[in-house]
Amino acid sequence: MTIYSAIVVDTPGDPFAGDPGDALAEDGALLVRDGVIRGRGSLAALRDAHPGEPVTRLDGGLLVPGFVDTHVHFPQIRVIGGLGLPLLDWLEQCALPEESKLADQAYARAVAAEFLDGLIAAGTTSALVFGSHFAPAMDELFGAAERRGLNITSGLVLSDRILRRDLLNSPQTALTDSADLILRWHDRGRLRYAVTPRFSLSASDDMLDVCAELLGKGVWFTSHINENLAEIATVAGLFPGAHHYLDTYARHGLVTTRSVFAHNVHPGDAELALLAEGGASVAHCPTSNSALGSGLFPLRRHVEHGIGVALGSDVGAGAGLFLPKEALQAYFIQQLLGGAGFPLTPAHLLYLATRAGARALGLDHRVGDFTVGKDFDAVWLRPAAGSTLAVNLRHARDTTDALARTFTLATPADVAGVWIRGERAAVQSARD
Ligand SMILES: [Zn+2]
Repeated sequence: MTIYSAIVVDTPGDPFAGDPGDALAEDGALLVRDGVIRGRGSLAALRDAHPGEPVTRLDGGLLVPGFVDTHVHFPQIRVIGGLGLPLLDWLEQCALPEESKLADQAYARAVAAEFLDGLIAAGTTSALVFGSHFAPAMDELFGAAERRGLNITSGLVLSDRILRRDLLNSPQTALTDSADLILRWHDRGRLRYAVTPRFSLSASDDMLDVCAELLGKGVWFTSHINENLAEIATVAGLFPGAHHYLDTYARHGLVTTRSVFAHNVHPGDAELALLAEGGASVAHCPTSNSALGSGLFPLRRHVEHGIGVALGSDVGAGAGLFLPKEALQAYFIQQLLGGAGFPLTPAHLLYLATRAGARALGLDHRVGDFTVGKDFDAVWLRPAAGSTLAVNLRHARDTTDALARTFTLATPADVAGVWIRGERAAVQSARD
């Protein structure tokens, strides 16, 4: 057993469901055994109750739950920063040429390692990962995630039209390749499978039928929706019988409690009602939406409909893997929306980067906060002495204020330690 002494902060409550301050909890120590949190309280109380147990002191900064990224593309880790393009041009010029390279399994292996090490360095310990179009590349990702102990849900990306020819698969091969991957990887340790049509723009009704058949195996589902106005118009033209974009998925039974849709920047009210009815979640990707000029996410309308919203970095369109940056950009977007925006507090930002994602992925019984019984997945954010964040933390009035300053100023260089199910991950901090 180990006692971790730190300023421990998490959101066991839901700041969207009441007074945001009530969602936040703070303690001085955690007791961890076999990777699981067994006690929580003051350092003095835990030492009294467990005399002789070693104490690991994490002095300075904050200890928060490992971040949960609900939308991130592993094949795009090498193409971040393609600025100046709207979605469909960015895909054509930046993302898809790189994704084609993952046909080479050795290339995919290198990319998977860079991607997963990048997640850990950014403090992300759980993620719903948009996969590759190539099954061997998925074996590389899952194998590398297993070796690192990460909580990864991912799947083969399925498309049978409109994309580059080398990224297409037929509904038949999609079915057999996905079924094989599910057998190999779903529910193996911390790994799970997600059926992943790229978006209905590039997936025919036959392909979406295959997705429904695969979803019936008890796995997860993810795709894109309502990201960009040109994309939405194209989808409407491809599915003349559909009521709206979400209906292209819904009429195949793909809107469920195990479904996570990325973006939803331009939803209609009927789509929001249908998402809520199906119990599906939305991955909000603020820096990607900003970089591609996709639009300002209507968080208030999602909250009013009771839809679970979490954060996605959407790398490579997003501006890096560090979830606090996404939380800050989410805050900016809501500010820019003026009266239509949802005013986010520091408790909301921590929740969005941690527990909201765990809930969206159905993992909140295991991760997302530091409740006793959950896995010890944690990030220690401790700024370098003399940095502007260190100065600001010294002048913070209380923990909520310290959180606000952390979300405003922290970068991956402030990740001083990451624990994955109780094991300290090898993170090369930028200043070590
Ligand atoms: Zn995406």
